[in-house]
Amino acid sequence: MTDRHPKGFDPIQHGLLQKLYGDLVPPLESIRVRAGLHAVVDNLFAQLGRLPSRRGFRIRRIETRNAGFLVIETSGVAAGAEDTVGEAKEAARSTCEHCGKSARLVVKVGLESLPTAPDLELGDRLLCLDCANDFRKETGL
Ligand SMILES: [Zn+2]
Repeated sequence: MTDRHPKGFDPIQHGLLQKLYGDLVPPLESIRVRAGLHAVVDNLFAQLGRLPSRRGFRIRRIETRNAGFLVIETSGVAAGAEDTVGEAKEAARSTCEHCGKSARLVVKVGLESLPTAPDLELGDRLLCLDCANDFRKETGL
């Protein structure tokens, strides 16, 4: 069984973001979030792109770890950037990783899950009720 909800980002959307925001956007492989958080990532770049003094500011990496915890590595400084990054992290704490709706619960995906679903990436997931039900059915968790 393969993981139907891999981390990553849409390559076409990534190309558009790079066209719009240039060096602000990290390489495609440095954005590691599931589909439900793609809008959060989009919005992050849209907000950062509006900052007047963002010349030296960069996003180096965006990745979800364990249920709604979004890691955003940056370099440089820009007025307002910290708040914008904070807002994206906050949004990730209440967004379903699979579909983007309001998240309701955490599905545990720890080492103990491996015998039932060996191909799943470890790390707990923050999901809405529907996605949690589907995910449990698919994986047997
Ligand atoms: Zn969902």
